[in-house]
Amino acid sequence: MHPALCRSWRHSLARLGGLLALALAAGLWFDAVWPALCAALALALGSILWRLHRLSQRLRDRRRVEPLPGEGIWPELYGLVYRRQREARTRKRRLVSMLRAFREAAAALPDAILVLEAPERRIVWFNEAATRLLGLRYPQDIDAHLSHLLRAPRVVEWLESWNCDEPLLDVASPADERLRLGLRLIRYTGRQYLLVVRDISMLMRLEQMRRDFVANVSHELRTPLTVVHGYLDMIEPEDFPELAAGIVEMRRQSARMAQIVEDLLTLSRLEAKERLDEETVAMAPMLRTLEHEARALSRGRHRIAFEDEAKCDLLGSGKELHSAFSNLVSNAVRYTPEGGEIRVRFAREADGGLSLAVRDTGPGIPAQHIPRITERFYRVSSSRSRESGGTGLGLSIVKHVLNLHQASLEIDSTPGQGSTFRIRFEPRRTLLRETEPA
Ligand code: ADP
Repeated sequence: MHPALCRSWRHSLARLGGLLALALAAGLWFDAVWPALCAALALALGSILWRLHRLSQRLRDRRRVEPLPGEGIWPELYGLVYRRQREARTRKRRLVSMLRAFREAAAALPDAILVLEAPERRIVWFNEAATRLLGLRYPQDIDAHLSHLLRAPRVVEWLESWNCDEPLLDVASPADERLRLGLRLIRYTGRQYLLVVRDISMLMRLEQMRRDFVANVSHELRTPLTVVHGYLDMIEPEDFPELAAGIVEMRRQSARMAQIVEDLLTLSRLEAKERLDEETVAMAPMLRTLEHEARALSRGRHRIAFEDEAKCDLLGSGKELHSAFSNLVSNAVRYTPEGGEIRVRFAREADGGLSLAVRDTGPGIPAQHIPRITERFYRVSSSRSRESGGTGLGLSIVKHVLNLHQASLEIDSTPGQGSTFRIRFEPRRTLLRETEPA
């Protein structure tokens, strides 16, 4: 109880106690006082009950209680209720103005914000931009399931996974198909998620321009390079002894340029694809081809071993997978010094998936380079890469091929001891081999 109210109660009770004691003493002396005493008590009790009833009626009807003048229990009680009501009104006004400011801020946002509830992706709330970007209508779409409104299989799959780690980019807007959207999920309570939808049309256009530019430049360079390379091949260095070293170097560099152009074209082709045509990739002949290529590149300078432990085939694109595997194997051969060892192991994983691991005893890669090593033209040491005839695009191609196969690349390396590049495929890509190759 409030201390002031408590004090008033104590005073009132003390006063009442005094009066009762006085009345009892009078009653004991004069019998005739009893009826008058009882009537006075009943009157006092009735008045208290009536006042309490009026106060509770006001509170129940949510009407304002005004403070009473004077002192005593009733002014104290009314004053207390009056103050509490005034505080509640101030708090409510503050909350309403905060809510209004929040609504205005949400409406001014250029990004669409949706509150979704798990597990059915029910729309709990959305701002104005969601109408422009996703075509949502208020209030009809409140409580609707988002996957009924965004039906592209890619979007439904992403929404079903509640993937808060990676945004989904380049989604066509259901309201205007010229708009390209980026979607990001943020979990903020156990069951509720915030979906932020951003118009990334401009970014996607720039990205497309960059891709087209690289593809066009590479394409335009291909023909002149073929001509230069062809003529250089026709010139015999022995016929021009004073230019022999220059001719050999020109041949080497033009071959490298041609390889860069081919790799850039491969990357452009892979970037333009969302999915690949999938087939059964027979791994026994694939491993034999890779081994043959590795031995040809090594020319007997390394110990090379291939182990086919999985005895399974892969579901994927044979051409692209060969290009990814071959990049890893050729890196292992190119970066491992003479006398080193290269082991390629195709195995079945505990989860039923397949893995291809390429291990070498080369120079290794310092840990700080590993996160960036699959970026285009990223090199640990540009001189070492150039000496080995690299283009700086090999691992970028590997990454793109693996993304199109939903596979992952793990790099484990110790500088001075060697590296292991391991590709892991999901179990759904494992195919039992029907006939063992001869
Ligand atoms: P490059 O054509 O230059 O080899 P990659 O994209 O294939 O380009 O590789 C990127 C960089 O990663 C290389 O320049 C090299 O520094 C490093 N690298 C790749 N594979 C190996 C390996 N097996 N051992 C040591 N370093 C490697």
